[in-house]
Amino acid sequence: MKNSTIRIIVILAILSIMGITITQIYWVKRAFDLKEAEFDRNVNTALFNVAQQIFSINNAPSPGHNPVKQLSTNYYIVLVNSDIDANFLEFLLRSEFEKRNILVDFEYGIYDCDNEKMVYGNYVRLGETKGRQDRNTSLPKWTDTGYYFGVQFPSREAQIMNQMGIWLFSSAVLLVVIIFFGYSLFVILKQKRLSEVQKNFINNMTHEFKTPISTIAVSTEVLKSPDIIHQPERLFKYAGIIENENKRLRQHVERVLQIAQLDREEAGLKKETFDLHELIEEIADNIQVQLRESKGEIALHLNASPSKIKADRHHLANVIYNLLDNAIKYCQKQPSISITTGLQANELLLTVADNGIGVSEENKKRIFQRFFRVPTGNIHDVKGFGLGLHYVKQIVEVHRGKIVVESELNKGCLFTITLPAV
Ligand code: ADP
Repeated sequence: MKNSTIRIIVILAILSIMGITITQIYWVKRAFDLKEAEFDRNVNTALFNVAQQIFSINNAPSPGHNPVKQLSTNYYIVLVNSDIDANFLEFLLRSEFEKRNILVDFEYGIYDCDNEKMVYGNYVRLGETKGRQDRNTSLPKWTDTGYYFGVQFPSREAQIMNQMGIWLFSSAVLLVVIIFFGYSLFVILKQKRLSEVQKNFINNMTHEFKTPISTIAVSTEVLKSPDIIHQPERLFKYAGIIENENKRLRQHVERVLQIAQLDREEAGLKKETFDLHELIEEIADNIQVQLRESKGEIALHLNASPSKIKADRHHLANVIYNLLDNAIKYCQKQPSISITTGLQANELLLTVADNGIGVSEENKKRIFQRFFRVPTGNIHDVKGFGLGLHYVKQIVEVHRGKIVVESELNKGCLFTITLPAV
């Protein structure tokens, strides 16, 4: 699928999910407002009925105005301006609320009309005493002056939410759909990146193999000409070219095989105890030919003592070769490499420093990823598979070690490997 098509699909999918979410939020809010209005209406009616019953019990005439006032979203007062028997009031409130299915705890307070002071207050658990309507005779009674009472519901919102079951359920389903959608999107984008990375890898590999193969083909053509036998110099030259190109091909194959081998042998390292310094000296010797070609130099500062290490010699050698190979490859001047070893606590430190093109801050985290290559545009044409450092990291980690890189663009890189010492 084309990149632009994927982008359009992703944008449309995100827009539709956003649309559905906004619609859901709007409807949930509307449903909440409706439930809230219904609750207020029921409470108002219940309190109005309570007031009417108090008036009738006191033989007082009903006032011309509605005695119930809602002072805030959750506080109602009822201006009875008459005698109130707390016991009777609580009984009336309970029965009126239960009648209207307002099964939520409430607090009420009785206030003195003259000095606005609360003379009595109680918290009533409607849920627990549901159905119990017997009168509690121990509550106080005021008969000598005028009173009003106030009611509020501490768990009003929870009660309204309880009545919105279907909306909460549909919101939860929507949330699951969004999470699932987000995850699918993440997987699609990851797969897309992976397929791009693999495409790059195949392009690189084809290029890397094509060049030596065609050079070998041309050289063989030359060697096949009948009079080459009389030109020993040309013969040697072309045989040499074939040998070098063959070596290059072998190196490429080994690179790819290293990773395949690593995948197969994950737990099967052949660990042995050997001297790390001997190995480094051996590798430094072997790399001299390559260094001479690019007029580079290598300096060894082998300070670790003792320098014994328990590791897979073959893989550890590959690790050092890969780092040195990169130090030469990614250098646009004469390579100057230095290898240092040292002991720190119970750990062996091995550093490889170069004076190459360096890696930017942003790419530093990614160079150890499989197939990752720093995008270089047309700046230089160093080819590779993006497997070397991934292999290095894997090997270091299976040896319970760590690798970090410090770098500055155009100054060089410093790779530090920490391994457990013997
Ligand atoms: P390859 O060299 O085959 O591309 P690596 O995994 O060895 O793959 O390296 C990944 C990338 O990290 C390289 O493409 C290169 O851009 C960058 N890199 C690695 N080593 C160095 C170095 N010493 N100096 C600068 N860049 C480096």
